[in-house]
Amino acid sequence: MTRKPFIAGNWKMNTSLEEAPALAGAMVEKVGSVEGVDLAVCPPFPYLASVGKALAGSKIALGAQDIFYENNGAYTGEISAAMLKDVGCAYVICGHSERRHVIGETDEMINRKVLKCVGDGLKPILCVGELLTERQADETIEVVSRQIHLGLEGVSSADLTDVTIAYEPVWAIGTGVTATPDQAQEVHAMIRRLLGEIYDDATARNVRIQYGGSVKPDNAGELLTQPDIDGALIGGASLKADDFAKIISAANNANNANKR
Ligand code: PEP
Repeated sequence: MTRKPFIAGNWKMNTSLEEAPALAGAMVEKVGSVEGVDLAVCPPFPYLASVGKALAGSKIALGAQDIFYENNGAYTGEISAAMLKDVGCAYVICGHSERRHVIGETDEMINRKVLKCVGDGLKPILCVGELLTERQADETIEVVSRQIHLGLEGVSSADLTDVTIAYEPVWAIGTGVTATPDQAQEVHAMIRRLLGEIYDDATARNVRIQYGGSVKPDNAGELLTQPDIDGALIGGASLKADDFAKIISAANNANNANKR
């Protein structure tokens, strides 16, 4: 049994009308035909359509940075599953730490988003991770377990095949400080054990768990060769096609080393 590595780029609130399709085009040139790694980029909402056009025919899938759980109606500023599918999205980031801690999303809202994705044929990337204060208070396992339990409430084991978990310690996101491979592996293994308890071992073994938090070309190799790290969610380094390509190459090498 192998889990194919999955590398996704989260462009956050960056790029412009001109830059977004140009960046996607540069990525297509560098990694658009890679076979050994699943790939996605998640641009800002206004550029989804133009980035989707730039990615057409390549192996790089389109993803969104968020979704709303209602179908349509009086929800000013929100974006529905149908809208995301209209512009060609396959993946949706749910519960990114910036949405949890800057915007104030709760586990209950994030769970509704995950359920909406799996119910409507989109693949959620459920983000979990502890704050620095929580790690320092030895609460990492408790916090991440709670986020997993609540985030996946009502998700069947059949639907879990479409779910990716992204472990992103908040203190490592956009800070340049990354978790050590051992620190990351420890939490990834715990998440997989927990999925085994909630579902069953075979189901847990199939779930891809990405690491996120200041992944760069020079630390990607060590992280991605850890046994329970199945790819990465990349912020800053996904804004540079060269860096993104180097990380993908590290994932490909980790996969070829047949670590699992
Ligand atoms: C992220 O946005 O999910 C992320 C991990 O950002 P960065 O790679 O910049 O830390």
